[in-house]
Amino acid sequence: MKQNFAIIGLGRFGGSLCETLIESGQEVLAIDRDEDRINEYMNIATHAVVANAQDEMTLRSLGLRNFEHVIVAIGEDIQASILVTLMAKEMGVPNVTAKAQDSYHAKVLYKIGADNVVHPERDMGIKVAHNLVSKNILDYLELSDEYSLAEVKVTNRKFFDKSLAQLDFRQRFGLNVVAIRREGHLIISPMADEIVFKDDCLLLIGADEDVERLDEKMS
Ligand code: ADP
Repeated sequence: MKQNFAIIGLGRFGGSLCETLIESGQEVLAIDRDEDRINEYMNIATHAVVANAQDEMTLRSLGLRNFEHVIVAIGEDIQASILVTLMAKEMGVPNVTAKAQDSYHAKVLYKIGADNVVHPERDMGIKVAHNLVSKNILDYLELSDEYSLAEVKVTNRKFFDKSLAQLDFRQRFGLNVVAIRREGHLIISPMADEIVFKDDCLLLIGADEDVERLDEKMS
């Protein structure tokens, strides 16, 4: 289904978001106050406009309130990022995603109503660190300070050809298997009798320390 997105700020994060959304067939209005950035995205975004998003009249005249998703991808100017997020929420945009510089900035963004706050640099740092120290953890998504969704590759023969009931990750590790990725397809909410094979990838939710415990057992 086609959705409409407005991206404010076409730095590295906003720009890459814009390209990926367009590639996946979505409509994107790109806004930046820098004319050179807009020229770069003129032929990529559905519409690209040079504007200062801190100006409420400008946002209104661009019809920002009619967008389902607004992404505030303003980098260093924390004051602008906060103000624009606030205005987008006040206009009634249902989904506002804002990019945070640090955890203080994130706290403020949530407080003023952002529906989603992302920390691309921090999240990528965590992912790269996990990939460097572990062969088995393929992906990692922090759900909170303590809990994560992790994708763990089944590489230890002790786990091969056994059902989820036999492996009993919940009892042994406190982890819930929410999906299995096998040869490019996903088995969502697998049943207890689903057999786990060599090179399957388990998508698990649980405490970080339990994910690490499983990772050690897998090695
Ligand atoms: P990144 O770290 O993602 O590369 P940058 O700080 O380089 O982020 O980019 C942020 C973008 O946001 C810049 O292109 C800048 O021109 C744009 N920007 C910053 N403030 C405003 C504003 N008030 N209105 C519109 N665009 C803005």
